[in-house]
Amino acid sequence: MKKDPCEFCDGLVEEAVMRVPFHYRKELIYVDHVPVRVCRKCGELYFDAVVYKRLEKIAEGRNAIRTKITFPLADYRKALAIETR
Ligand SMILES: [Zn+2]
Repeated sequence: MKKDPCEFCDGLVEEAVMRVPFHYRKELIYVDHVPVRVCRKCGELYFDAVVYKRLEKIAEGRNAIRTKITFPLADYRKALAIETR
């Protein structure tokens, strides 16, 4: 793996193994334990080609994924409404 600085913010990019969001055909899945390079400053993720291919495979077989995680869904406009009260 190369030690290039972040393309977006010039921050330090470090290797990590972590849970990553992965966008695939307009869908979003999360994958645990992915070897990735992550920018310490802005959080941008960099995948190796091999890793990316594997993530695509996982995403294609997403119907077989049994574990689901849920997130709170907020509406940004509601926050604005509260502030202007
Ligand atoms: Zn960055």
